[in-house]
Amino acid sequence: MSRLHPGGLVVEPKLREECGVMGVKGHFEASNLVYLGLHALQHRGQEGAGIVSTDGEQMRSHRGLGLVGDIFGPTQLTPLTGDSAIGHVRYSTSGERSALRNVQPFVVRYGGGQVSIAHNGNLVNAARLRRELEQRGSIFGTSSDTEVILHLLATSQQGTFINRLVDALLQVEGAYSLILQTETVMVAVRDPHGFRPLVMGRVGDAVVFASETTALDLIGGTYEREVQPGEMIIVENGTQVLSLSPFPRRERKACVFEHIYFARPNSVVFGSPVYDSRFNFGQALHRTAPADVDLVIPVPDSGTPAALGFAFASGLPFKQGLIRSHYVGRTFIEPSQQIRDFGVKLKLSPVRSAIEGKRLVVVDDSIVRGTTSRKIVRLLREAGAKEVHLRISSPPIRASCFYGVDTPTREELIAHRLTPEETCAFVGADSLGYLSLEAMHNELKGKASTWCDACFSGEYAVPPENDAERPQLDLFGGASPDED
Ligand code: SF4
Repeated sequence: MSRLHPGGLVVEPKLREECGVMGVKGHFEASNLVYLGLHALQHRGQEGAGIVSTDGEQMRSHRGLGLVGDIFGPTQLTPLTGDSAIGHVRYSTSGERSALRNVQPFVVRYGGGQVSIAHNGNLVNAARLRRELEQRGSIFGTSSDTEVILHLLATSQQGTFINRLVDALLQVEGAYSLILQTETVMVAVRDPHGFRPLVMGRVGDAVVFASETTALDLIGGTYEREVQPGEMIIVENGTQVLSLSPFPRRERKACVFEHIYFARPNSVVFGSPVYDSRFNFGQALHRTAPADVDLVIPVPDSGTPAALGFAFASGLPFKQGLIRSHYVGRTFIEPSQQIRDFGVKLKLSPVRSAIEGKRLVVVDDSIVRGTTSRKIVRLLREAGAKEVHLRISSPPIRASCFYGVDTPTREELIAHRLTPEETCAFVGADSLGYLSLEAMHNELKGKASTWCDACFSGEYAVPPENDAERPQLDLFGGASPDED
């Protein structure tokens, strides 16, 4: 059951990250460490989670729907023995996606033995590959694009597991940060563009892979480096590490949205601290879209570092004008239209004493559909704000993502349909300012061309195939994304 907060808004996440992955090899408590690490990656997916361990002979797995803490306890973790384990968190929504069969890591047996796989990303040619495999007799057990990789691996004519895997991955296009495990080998691999993050670290001698460094921090590990785009790291014979670069080189295209919204602010992603990026975006936002106001407030939690940056650069006071409830689950109810109309759907509550009579700059990290922004503006006005100036620490989102992020269709994106002026009128703000694409890139490390910004620019490094659909509509059975 949900809890409704009188006077508050229930705010669902704007965009959903596809998944988070974790692997530990060479530690007698591998599955426990993966379990802890998955807690740190929980923001990347709340639909389901799983862990697969191996003791060198046998694989054992447990997967479930819901949050990591609800799925795993001593009863589920104790049987996951062995010094090697991989884990996965999957994002939350309704319908087919909530099927247990789609919760990873998947474990299969093929001609060469057992293999388990955890995937973050989305393959743009999975629908075609799946059709071709089915025509050749493959029988799929899930509706996930990840299973395509397993079928390609199983049907490969190559000899060794590694050669089969390379052969399979040479056929797929799109975004993948993968951790795979056989009874004796663990492999971490990123697609040649490196859309989604994946890092490598250590706990003692044990090798750890994770989507974000925050998972390493939680288990007392040390960060070594990114798994490079196009790199395949093989861990075998205990903790012996071998690096291969078996794919044609492509230009790096790291997902800029990790630094805007997805990753935890305490993570280092693509080699730079996420918190610093967000703070700097806020400073740049003040330079490009200043406002004559009394107070800066964030839309918590993801807008907070940018709001602090805006306040720092402007010299304006910063206060928490909105309080987010952390006790409303992300998987609770599909509110009835009546509840939506009451605008009581979510979990932001205004702090009247902080905002009453004040001219506010409200800093948020992005606008997707605009519906939540409109509710927030209304909420602040009802709580007594004199003026509400909305500042967004990213450019307008004009295009869908095909690389593992659950965005609405282009037509549903407000910036695709409306100009900034029209959007401002729609959300009911006194003014609206975005960070420009150029200003955003100026604040990021590395050349602009090394970042994927397709959801802002519409320029896709890997063009989606004709029948490629966004993740939420194709291989996962269709479900409506959240409001804004
Ligand atoms: S399209 Fe946007 S969300 Fe998707 S990978 Fe590129 S930057 Fe990230």
